[in-house]
Amino acid sequence: MQIALTGTPGTGKTTVAHLLPYRVIDINALVREGLNFGTDPKRGCLEADMDGLAERLVEMDSDQISILEGHFSHHFAQWSIVLRLAPRKLESRLEERGYSPEKIRENLEAEALDVILVEAVEYCQRVDEIDATGRTPQEVADLVAKIIEGKLVMPPGQVDWLEEFFG
Ligand code: ADP
Repeated sequence: MQIALTGTPGTGKTTVAHLLPYRVIDINALVREGLNFGTDPKRGCLEADMDGLAERLVEMDSDQISILEGHFSHHFAQWSIVLRLAPRKLESRLEERGYSPEKIRENLEAEALDVILVEAVEYCQRVDEIDATGRTPQEVADLVAKIIEGKLVMPPGQVDWLEEFFG
């Protein structure tokens, strides 16, 4: 069984995934290691081979729970847990990462407009949403673990960054 841990870059997916007691499959690593069509000249990053990824993930699936970690992992799972982060917090994390102002703006807009959440709702049978703002990685991981263990449900619709971002 594969559960996607998704969200805008910088929301804490990688950090949180590695605090969970499950195998973690890094979608971006699979793309870097060959499941790509080379660099997309418009975006300046690797163009993922989505069909190849889907096939590889089917091969890797088992009865054990695995976490698919990455900002488009929700394309490959029936169940997604979406991490959210207030844009003002996300901005400083992406600045620390050395992203260009354009790339920061693009990601902040995507977070403010719920782009990943909306896609996850479109692709997945079940979606949970966690606001990571003001929570430590361990606190977020504990919520993810409770959701996966069936002890907690966090339905989408808990955050609204529009006022903060555009207001
Ligand atoms: P993602 O995988 O979603 O791109 P990362 O896990 O790489 O995000 O986290 C981005 C940065 O934010 C890292 O420097 C990480 O240490 C930090 N970080 C992640 N989660 C938290 C949190 N809950 N509180 C504070 N800092 C965090």
